Amino acid sequence: MKKIFFNKLGVITISAVLLLALGGWSANSASVAGTKKAKKPILIEGAMPIEVQNFAKKLQNVKEEKSGKFEFYKGTLDHYPVIVVKTGKGMENAAAATAVAIERYKPIAIINQGTAGGHDPKLHVADIVLGEKTVHLASFKTEIKGEGQGVDTTQWKPMDLMASEGSGSSSDAEKIRYYDADQDLLSAANAVKDQYTNGKVVEGTIGSADIWNNELDRIKYFHENFGTSAEEMEGFSEAQIANEYNIPFLDIRVLSNNKTNDGAYNPNTAGPCQDYVYNVVKKYISTKK
Ligand code: SAH
Repeated sequence: MKKIFFNKLGVITISAVLLLALGGWSANSASVAGTKKAKKPILIEGAMPIEVQNFAKKLQNVKEEKSGKFEFYKGTLDHYPVIVVKTGKGMENAAAATAVAIERYKPIAIINQGTAGGHDPKLHVADIVLGEKTVHLASFKTEIKGEGQGVDTTQWKPMDLMASEGSGSSSDAEKIRYYDADQDLLSAANAVKDQYTNGKVVEGTIGSADIWNNELDRIKYFHENFGTSAEEMEGFSEAQIANEYNIPFLDIRVLSNNKTNDGAYNPNTAGPCQDYVYNVVKKYISTKK
């Protein structure tokens, strides 16, 4: 009995040593493989087909995937993985597509890009705004008014939904929430701005909401009180989700229209904007190698 026990123990001990040795080897090979491990992709977002097709066409080795209505174009740029996603228009699509993309592809950085309406009379159609900040243009608490006392949107107080997790009316919620752009992405964008020849490239605040503002006084209100240079319908919600997952984010928008100086809507501005963003990504990748 004793002998068998020892024999068994012997077998167990040898197996354990073998297992440890194999474990050590596989751990080593895993860390070797880890150094060659697939790089985390850069995610490029756009709402409409005209805002993604040009970029997706420039990628190599493209594979298409879908999740719901979101379309992903997975490819490479300078051998680096880049994924273009068509989110669909509006804040909800933008936020959901961003969360799905983060969970599926674990991007190292996110750039949203596309068309926007100008809030700054000094900017013209085809000029590009680098969203040094993004801000929500439909997050407000209204004044208390009785029946017949009217509606005055200029009296509405900004509401920061991320100020607390509670439901109270604490005054710290009555402030404008801005998300700052990632500095490395912003530097890459500034470094290649001379390569954009359709207009100028400036830093500014980009406002988002599911609203297309055509009232000049309202546009001026946001420009003066929120500091907006342009408006669109996706950037802030993507910045918020990126922030919640701690992923670097930048919104890059080309003016396709500008009410403040009669700049007529020109959706063809979306193409050259993607050419520019392509150069931004190339630059960003070169700093990551
Ligand atoms: N004429 C287009 C309208 C696009 S809707 C069409 O019918 O398809 C708005 C989309 O364009 C959103 O994705 C938004 O991000 C962007 N956009 C461009 N200019 C805008 C503006 N002035 N206000 C709000 N969104 C604008």
